[in-house]
Amino acid sequence: PDWNAQSRLQITGLTFRYAEEQPQIKMTLNAEGYQKIGIIGLSGSGKSTLINLLSGFLSPTAGRIRVNGVELTSFSQHDWQQQVIYIPQNPYIFKATLRANIAFYQPEATIEQVREAIKVVGLTQLVSELSNGIDTVIGEGSRTLSGGQAQRIALARAFLDKKRKILLFDEPTAHLDIETEVELKEKMLPLMENHLVFFATHRLHWMKEMDQIIVMDAGKTIEQGTLKEL
Ligand code: ATP
Ligand code: MG
Repeated sequence: PDWNAQSRLQITGLTFRYAEEQPQIKMTLNAEGYQKIGIIGLSGSGKSTLINLLSGFLSPTAGRIRVNGVELTSFSQHDWQQQVIYIPQNPYIFKATLRANIAFYQPEATIEQVREAIKVVGLTQLVSELSNGIDTVIGEGSRTLSGGQAQRIALARAFLDKKRKILLFDEPTAHLDIETEVELKEKMLPLMENHLVFFATHRLHWMKEMDQIIVMDAGKTIEQGTLKEL
């Protein structure tokens, strides 16, 4: 069943290492319903690795991630992708039109819906500069976008999707200037309502919006709680 207000995610003894000699991720954490969970910590502390494990692209070395009691590893990648919107630290832009890139999770979206998403993330200016507007082919080997533009395309995917209830944000605003980020934040907050959100970031102002904050260091949780408690 799809993620809903009663759903539970249990992370128990989750362990992961990229290689023998590497420091490992080790954590236990529960989340439910539409909680917002902030993940902070120094560069290299394991934030992206955790988000990646939740996305299902990496599999735990030990321990488990369970969704309503069912192990994530027993879901097909396809089924889990129907639940999750994952915005990586460096989003991948396909060699395809801007429209197809934005409608990645929702190929049936109308042109009006795509244009609305473009407007929300502030890419209208970019579109006006593209030779074929939203039908211009972007991505590898084509017109190269800045890191911030790629991030906004990834965010536009999230705005367009109306079905997936789990948002995995890995520094979604890291490449944006503060002014653009503040503007976008106003739109991202309503998007984050009615979603389970994991939000890794170095921009601490987001922590005000989180129900739970995890402070990571060398792959482990060193502090956990609400902003008040920390
Ligand atoms: P940042 O704030 O810089 O994004 P982070 O908290 O997201 O950092 P991770 O990217 O999860 O940190 O990295 C955690 C550890 O795993 C680091 O020691 C890093 O060097 C290592 N690591 C990350 N990705 C890989 C990889 N693909 N192969 C091997 N080691 C990796
Ligand atoms: Mg990272």
